Amino acid sequence: MAALGIPQNTIHILQKYDFHFQKKYGQNFLIDSNVLAKIIDAARITKEDFVLEIGPGIGTMTQYLCENAYQVMAVEIDENLIPILNDTLSAYDNITIVHDDILKMDLTKAVREKNGGRPVKVVANLPYYITTPIVMALLENHMPLESITVMVQKEVADRMRAKPGTKEYGALSLAVQYYAEAEVIANVPPNCFIPRPNVGSAVIRLTCHKEKKVTVRDEEFLFRVIRASFNQRRKTLQNGLGNDAGLPVTKEQAASAIAQMGLPPAVRGERLSLQEFAELSDILQTDSMK
Ligand code: SAM
Repeated sequence: MAALGIPQNTIHILQKYDFHFQKKYGQNFLIDSNVLAKIIDAARITKEDFVLEIGPGIGTMTQYLCENAYQVMAVEIDENLIPILNDTLSAYDNITIVHDDILKMDLTKAVREKNGGRPVKVVANLPYYITTPIVMALLENHMPLESITVMVQKEVADRMRAKPGTKEYGALSLAVQYYAEAEVIANVPPNCFIPRPNVGSAVIRLTCHKEKKVTVRDEEFLFRVIRASFNQRRKTLQNGLGNDAGLPVTKEQAASAIAQMGLPPAVRGERLSLQEFAELSDILQTDSMK
């Protein structure tokens, strides 16, 4: 089977199977071998690695992964792509193709069955319409995970690695950075895909912390505090926390916690670091139980 990271070979396969792109599945296939090599390199894939690929498409990146990894599991939602994948990956015996929706699968179980519970590397050119739910599900589901190296919309990559005080900083930045170190590896223009997306893209690597960088008493409460703090960006932190139906905190309790931390009363959520959110969460949780 010819290598697919070359536009002519991709077009040949699409024609052979009379494949029609489905917009609802975020299908933009990579056709640039330099970008593919960069992703594999950034993910530091070795022959020891078990790799989970989300949305293999026609198997372009999967071919690179199979060449470099020990085992690859590729989960694809579009049934029309399954016969194509069986064809383009027929030379490899280290691939498992799964026809499923990544958001509905019991990933921990699937991975454990294949990999005996060893840490997994996730590599993908993600469907942009569900980037955030996929990344959050991976980070939050406590599957043994080493890193996530993925193509995402550039604006989402900027939000994932944003620092306090910037306009990109928000709940996604904090959630990602709670679990991982985020680095942008490359910016990728629309002409590296077929069809071309109407946004810029970036490859981002999330290297999961072996030990958490901040400690908090109740992770779930922390994320409720973070969500409430960014729900209405233009509100002060005090109002955001005090007016959130999902958080058992009064405006007075919010004001008192903010004062206790030595922060100005009109501070906004976007000024606080992850460490400060963890402190705030511990104070608010204690107060909310009184
Ligand atoms: N990896 C291929 C490439 O780089 O050329 C395709 C990437 S394309 C951006 C995203 C892929 O994810 C498509 O093949 C699409 O069908 C698949 N996909 C979309 N939603 C999915 C879901 N919920 N679960 C699994 N795969 C999904």
